[in-house]
Amino acid sequence: MSEFSKLRALILAVHLAGIVGVVVYWNPVWLGLTLMSVVLFTWLGQELYCHRYLGHRAFELSEGWQKVFAFFSIFNLFGNPIGIASTHVNHHKHADTALDPHPAATAWQTWFWMAPGFEQSRSIATVKRLMRDAWLVFIRRYYFAIYFAVVGTAALIDIRVAIYGFFLPVIYSFFCNGVINVLCHKYGYKLFATNDNSKNNLIANLLLLGNGVALHNTHHAEPWDYRLSRQWYEVDAVALLIDILKTKD
Ligand SMILES: [Zn+2]
Ligand SMILES: [Zn+2]
Repeated sequence: MSEFSKLRALILAVHLAGIVGVVVYWNPVWLGLTLMSVVLFTWLGQELYCHRYLGHRAFELSEGWQKVFAFFSIFNLFGNPIGIASTHVNHHKHADTALDPHPAATAWQTWFWMAPGFEQSRSIATVKRLMRDAWLVFIRRYYFAIYFAVVGTAALIDIRVAIYGFFLPVIYSFFCNGVINVLCHKYGYKLFATNDNSKNNLIANLLLLGNGVALHNTHHAEPWDYRLSRQWYEVDAVALLIDILKTKD
């Protein structure tokens, strides 16, 4: 079973467990934990670390934060950070062409991680660069073991910690991923004339709670810049977190 087949099966199970769990154990107070997990896993783990740091090297980060954020990223269930970053580099290189690992043209396949190139398309240079990081290699090797150990412990402490702290954030994160990969390559406005269909989309950015990556045309035009806001109405909260956490540009 490939890593992606396992991920897809686990994400489906987490969706079912999250939906049933939230119906059985409904308590809006616990949504505070969901929001906290979204900031830790999706914003810091995925967007700040796997995307803008590992994928684009857009700023410098201390060793300590690198380790912590790589660990957080596991709980999004987007796969190991080496895989995420190396697939993403190919997305930039081949955006909206037949070689794009997740082309917006095949909307539903891309949304549900079924696009033909999704599993195979990796930047070999990025894989080689990141395989030098022992912590990332460790996470890659024990990805599912770490996931089950942490989420299993959470469930034993209180099932609501697993539901609200781990399952609902995955459902939300998966939805956001579809919004970015599909909608932000179809609908919105362009500030820059790029060779792809990337668009800045303010509604998507609102759904992402101002995460910033929905300012997607700006990101495709200038991927080396971790700051994605170019207008007063474009919110990029992750860039503000990077301003606080980076060691230098
Ligand atoms: Zn990118
Ligand atoms: Zn893109």
